[in-house]
Amino acid sequence: MTTVFGKIIRRELPAKIVFENDRIIAIEDIHPKAPTHILIIPKKEISGLQALQPEDFPLMGEVVQVAQMLAKQYGIEDGYRFLTNQGSSAGQTVFHLHFHLLGGRNLGILG
Ligand code: 5GP
Repeated sequence: MTTVFGKIIRRELPAKIVFENDRIIAIEDIHPKAPTHILIIPKKEISGLQALQPEDFPLMGEVVQVAQMLAKQYGIEDGYRFLTNQGSSAGQTVFHLHFHLLGGRNLGILG
């Protein structure tokens, strides 16, 4: 099922795109929770982490590479949080797999 991220990928909705290749897009979060808040989104419509299949695992390696690259580019490589929310009870609101890259302030301890 398509989501807001599918629409952004297809350019049906605007977004501040900070990285893109054939498999991955990264955008600035519309409601940033930190000075740097980027969403790294595989273009393949996977509903969440739990729906990942073994054939998607190489893509996850590439997502990590993009996270490292953007962390460096944004000057937060010394401290950032990289996470995904799996399921509504964990806070997932968009059911297209995406990873938050957060940094630029003291993020505290995960509660
Ligand atoms: P989740 O809660 O699913 O882990 O994360 C969804 C994230 O997507 C939220 O941080 C929310 O602010 C962001 N978001 C929702 N709609 C849009 C949108 O239209 N554009 C952008 N750039 N971010 C969005």
